[in-house]
Amino acid sequence: MTSNTRVVVIGAGLAGVRLARRLGELGTPVTLVGDEEHRPYNRVLLAEVLAGRYSPDVIALPAPAELTRGRVTGIDREVRTVHLADGSEIAYDTLVLATGSNSVLPPLRGLFTPGHVLPEGVHAFRTMDDCLGLSKAVRPGVKAVVIGGGLLGVSAARALAQRGAQVVLAQQGERLMERQLDPSASKLVQRHLKDLGVEIHTECRVRDVRCVGGAVRSVEMHDGYALDADLVVLACGVHPRAGLAQTAGLEVRKGIVVDDELRTSDPHIRAIGDCAQHDGTVYGLATPALEQAEVLAELLSGRRTDARYTGTRALTRLTLAGHDSPFDLAAFGETEARPGDDVVQLADATRGTYRKVVVRDDRLVGGVLVGELGTVGALARAWEGAEPLPDDGPLLHLLTNDGGS
Ligand SMILES: Cc1cc2nc3c(=O)[nH]c(=O)nc-3n(C[C@H](O)[C@H](O)[C@H](O)COP(=O)(O)OP(=O)(O)OC[C@H]3O[C@@H](n4cnc5c(N)ncnc54)[C@H](O)[C@@H]3O)c2cc1C
Repeated sequence: MTSNTRVVVIGAGLAGVRLARRLGELGTPVTLVGDEEHRPYNRVLLAEVLAGRYSPDVIALPAPAELTRGRVTGIDREVRTVHLADGSEIAYDTLVLATGSNSVLPPLRGLFTPGHVLPEGVHAFRTMDDCLGLSKAVRPGVKAVVIGGGLLGVSAARALAQRGAQVVLAQQGERLMERQLDPSASKLVQRHLKDLGVEIHTECRVRDVRCVGGAVRSVEMHDGYALDADLVVLACGVHPRAGLAQTAGLEVRKGIVVDDELRTSDPHIRAIGDCAQHDGTVYGLATPALEQAEVLAELLSGRRTDARYTGTRALTRLTLAGHDSPFDLAAFGETEARPGDDVVQLADATRGTYRKVVVRDDRLVGGVLVGELGTVGALARAWEGAEPLPDDGPLLHLLTNDGGS
């Protein structure tokens, strides 16, 4: 790969924009194609826009000057061109897919209308358009039901409650944010949301959404109980947007399969971010997307041909700004212990803080911090480095070595 070949990047999200900017800085010409109408933005901060804390301008990404707006509808690998919805074509030497993910729509009959548009009042929560649509619909006293109690559902419920909506969160699993948190930390998140006025139903499967005249009126639970709803937010997870790759015949499993050079099964096509599957993992998180973009920029610019992506140990951080005080949490690695692991935990029910680390064979394998994040930097470094822990003190030092209480 030399630095003057035509690099075309599809997708102006976190990964695509970072790659295009880095390539620009390194003197490699690049064409970035994105299908969203808005200026590229930081998707991670959408909940802050919905909560009314930030205006859309504040979360705009420093984007490269040149952005082609349009939807790529096909890839011709033979002649190396991409086709856009407006009929135009762009030739490439190297194509990068940074197409992100789509929201998962739960299989509820009421969602499937003729023409495949969601009923009025039902919103996904993935794009700036979703966020602006929700923002327009939310008013004090509006009855909102959030379906899904993962990171996305928790963020949406908190934001809507802050806008004065009466929010019910329906979570199919036993507890909130099961993927990231252990039961004690989940309980604190639950308490925080309740303090904001959110009603939470766990182990609660939604059976259908009921509409009248094309607009949602209620959400029906598996036991037949119906919740009145003016607004419904679907926060049931995401799946990689890999349709283009699939149609073009690239290897796709959960996501578009890539190697350590972010190369797909076609050597002229790379993939990064939420749409990519590296070493069996589709991350669906911002840090891996940005790290993959950085590695690919080194490779495509020719600055470091030995650059490799070997995986990200992703730390999840969430700030839920409450009425009085912010509520912070961070989680990484395995937050639940296996038999034989050492566990250190400190909990303060009055202050609503909780800290726990899991240690296996002298190595930190995971942890969760709620409300008190003073040690997060040191812990994350110990976890990322995977170095043996010093044996010169009690493990409790891991939780207090910032001098925090
Ligand atoms: C509300 C919300 C909160 C989140 N919070 C966190 C968080 O706290 N921490 C965290 O780590 N992650 C969080 N995430 C996930 C994070 O936003 C993603 O992991 C990240 O955006 C992935 O970047 P990406 O560039 O791969 O995809 P995206 O940012 O989704 O960008 C992909 C872009 O490609 C465009 N595109 C797709 N197909 C085409 C096509 N055919 N033609 C042209 N353009 C196309 C899409 O429209 C989109 O603009 C959150 C996500 C959401 C929605």
